[in-house]
Amino acid sequence: MPLPDAPPLPDLAALDPSPGELRAQAASAVDHVVSFLSSVSEQPAQGDLEDVEAFCRGLREPRPEEGSPLDDLLSFLFRDAIPRAFNPAGPGYMAFIPGGGLFPAALADFVADATNRYTGVWNAAPALVQLEANALDWLRDWMGFPAGTRGLFTTGGSMANLNAILCARERHLGAEIRPGVLYASREVHHSVLKAAKLAGVMADRVRAIPVDGSYRMRPDALREAIAADRRAGLRPFLVVSTAGTTNTGAVDPLEEVGSLCAAEGLWHHVDGAYGAFFHACGELRPLLRGLSRADSLTLDPHKGLFLPYGTGALLVADGAALRAAHATGDHPAYLPHLPDADEFYDPASHGPDLSRGFPGLRVWLTVKLLGAARLEAAIAEKRRLAVKAAAEVAALPGVVMDAPPQLSLFAFHLSWPGATVEEEDRATEELIRRVVARGRVMLSGCRTGGRFLARVCILSFRTRQDRVDEAVRHLAGESAGILAGRI
Ligand SMILES: *Cc1c(COP(=O)(O)O)cnc(C)c1O
Repeated sequence: MPLPDAPPLPDLAALDPSPGELRAQAASAVDHVVSFLSSVSEQPAQGDLEDVEAFCRGLREPRPEEGSPLDDLLSFLFRDAIPRAFNPAGPGYMAFIPGGGLFPAALADFVADATNRYTGVWNAAPALVQLEANALDWLRDWMGFPAGTRGLFTTGGSMANLNAILCARERHLGAEIRPGVLYASREVHHSVLKAAKLAGVMADRVRAIPVDGSYRMRPDALREAIAADRRAGLRPFLVVSTAGTTNTGAVDPLEEVGSLCAAEGLWHHVDGAYGAFFHACGELRPLLRGLSRADSLTLDPHKGLFLPYGTGALLVADGAALRAAHATGDHPAYLPHLPDADEFYDPASHGPDLSRGFPGLRVWLTVKLLGAARLEAAIAEKRRLAVKAAAEVAALPGVVMDAPPQLSLFAFHLSWPGATVEEEDRATEELIRRVVARGRVMLSGCRTGGRFLARVCILSFRTRQDRVDEAVRHLAGESAGILAGRI
């Protein structure tokens, strides 16, 4: 007797949705995103972080054996997880260094991920890699870098800084890493210190150069530190200037430091993760004088070009130095060669990644869709908003403006007669707390020069005049309340 046929097993390995399912899934994601974006300006600027630890514990679960409907998963994300976060997409986000998250970049990621082209090596997707090279060339032109420049899209400014330090190390120290000394101002971003360590430049070979009254690196102190290290038999090799510090928005004297580096034979890297994109605006270029002459420049499209997180960039004036930092001597035997390494660009020979996403498409699609003029107008507007707001905040009773905006960030503290620094620190922290508690703007502070400063950084494309006015009103109201009992 033949056995009856067993019922067919479901084909678990068939992972692709049908075209109809695919459309439905995409439509569902689009619905959620569009309703999120249409309410983004009404969402609390600081997010909902009440009892978030308990909430996170509740999220832990074993690996699911079976799938769930997409709608349930998206509903959970948009209802429960996304609101429990700072709101960097919203217009009230003036804390840290804002970005925003321009929508075309999301479309670019969607297209890039769905088509899954391989953009690590030129030969695998020559036309797409050319678009990435174009986007890097646009950054080069915005920054006034020379024709021989090569660049690299990274996950962020931290990785751009790391690759810059590697270029300088390779060029100036070769295998003799240990005597090499790196210089940066006391206000340098900690990612530079981390990158130095990852690049084999240990903390005892990093010098923190003092700053002037505007939080800018002091070239005289830099010159002395270099001389002292030379006398001690060490090898100065790299100065990292910052074009827009994260604390107070200070722009180091790029021109003077650049000339000093040229005279001393050192690599000059500029960390413009916050400030570089102001160079895209002709009228603002004088604020960043000297930036174009740097050996390398970190810029963060996910800050100053308003893209979503995940896109940093590095430009290196001598493109060969970027290639040299990532060269191993032998070309991997299984990889194809570029037809002409001078004419064509190849991400894998200019950076540490081989298989990677397609970061260039985010920049390419955004700039092509919007055009450079609109992006430049938005950047210039952020500067104007910050200058006006800083003047209004500086005029408030009890406010001491420690750092007027050199770009679009200003920092200040509260003060009253007879107050100690500790009392002023507490009052300034309380001011931030109360303004943030109102839910419309998010501010953050920093500790520098022995005191706590409140800071306002205007860089999101969604931050317009109305929200900045609101921020100033809330600062005026809350500072008056805090100072009322004290003066
Ligand atoms: C944000 C920032 C960085 C780090 O960049 P990520 O994109 O966060 O990795 C480095 N330097 C400065 C001045 C920054 O503002």
